[in-house]
Amino acid sequence: CGIVGYAGGRSALDVVLAGLKRLEYRGYDSAGVAVLADGGLAAAKKAGKLANLDKELAERPLPAGSTGIGHTRWATHGAPTDANAHPHLDNAGRVAVVHNGIIENFAALRAELSGRGHRLASETDTEVVGHLLAESFSSCGDLAEAMRQVCRRLEGAFTLVAVHADAPDVVVGARRNSPLVVGVGEDEAFLASDVAAFIAYTREAIELGQDQVVELRRDGVTVTDFDGAPGEVREYHIDWDASA
Ligand code: GLU
Repeated sequence: CGIVGYAGGRSALDVVLAGLKRLEYRGYDSAGVAVLADGGLAAAKKAGKLANLDKELAERPLPAGSTGIGHTRWATHGAPTDANAHPHLDNAGRVAVVHNGIIENFAALRAELSGRGHRLASETDTEVVGHLLAESFSSCGDLAEAMRQVCRRLEGAFTLVAVHADAPDVVVGARRNSPLVVGVGEDEAFLASDVAAFIAYTREAIELGQDQVVELRRDGVTVTDFDGAPGEVREYHIDWDASA
């Protein structure tokens, strides 16, 4: 339902949680975050309100990191449980992905992944994406390219945002028939399903086109289509009242 990603110099957890709070008005049944830190990936997720996630994070704090993603879920496939909350990780715990929308061909992809020895831990359509990203990344070594390869295999409507522990300063996103906006700050960058998530930090935005993949780093943003060709985007200044 709501998605936030961050690459920069601040605490990614603080930025992502603040962004998710700004998106709360849309409604959701679960929430979760993932942060890259100390060469690894740490995640927390809980069914229910953001307050439940806050409590979980107070009891089991994540290490500090400046690259991270977050999600508020509106369940379509699988009940609103902790296990079905996003982010979803691969079996090695190196990739985390969050998703808005529906992956229509998830059943076939699940069967294929199970056949290759992957253990799926949720009932969601989303989880296949984490496993597919892990496989693609291990062969190509580039998270944006891995995302392009995976998107070419997906049917349905989706916004996807992911991080990989072996790409420590990078957040990637993709969209097809579901919104995703980039925020460009001073030495930091944001991804969100709605600009409300980052207007406290920057008013410079980039609207992605259909079927595009974005690679986000603190010092720049690269946009391509699903085949890797440079993508056309629309840059704009957000001038509406941020206090609303
Ligand atoms: N289809 C996904 C799920 O049920 C994502 C739902 C959403 O857009 O929040 O987990």
